[in-house]
Amino acid sequence: MVTAIYPGSFDPITNGHLDILERASHIFEDVIVAVLVNTSKSGLFPHEERVAMIREVTSHLKNVRVDSFSGLTAEYARRQNASILIRGLRAVSDFDSELRLALTNKKLNPELETVFLMTSAENLFLSSSTIKELVSLGGSAEGMVPGLVAQRLAQKFQRNP
Ligand code: ADP
Repeated sequence: MVTAIYPGSFDPITNGHLDILERASHIFEDVIVAVLVNTSKSGLFPHEERVAMIREVTSHLKNVRVDSFSGLTAEYARRQNASILIRGLRAVSDFDSELRLALTNKKLNPELETVFLMTSAENLFLSSSTIKELVSLGGSAEGMVPGLVAQRLAQKFQRNP
């Protein structure tokens, strides 16, 4: 069985992430969404909440699992027996850093192949950070994130204006 990991911060999951994930789940037999626990950067949502939201919005994808990890992605992939690392690509601006990451991961784990999926046109400008900024300024994230996430985002910024 081919296991693929899809690592990221997912703070929070957006329709862009979900689209990549749905497409990846049609290509690979077993897909793990791997939420990076970043000890130096706390983020907006605690990682347990990010994991819970992803579980809820991916419950229709039967071959998708959600997990969290810290440390090197290449080592995490080895522990999971994963041979594929999925990343999404938006504009050319993603290319530089993604190439660097892919080459570094290849060096650390030669068995791990990075596979890039192109964003869908409607998600080209979606990023977790832009959405957080938008909602913090009073805008609505509807149509950019799953309904549950839009609700949680609105609650966060109502409580801490
Ligand atoms: P990271 O902090 O590792 O970049 P993110 O949660 O921001 O984690 O993103 C995880 C992955 O999803 C990355 O490969 C990123 O390029 C991809 N991604 C994020 N937003 C989109 C989008 N709108 N369309 C396609 N891919 C996306």
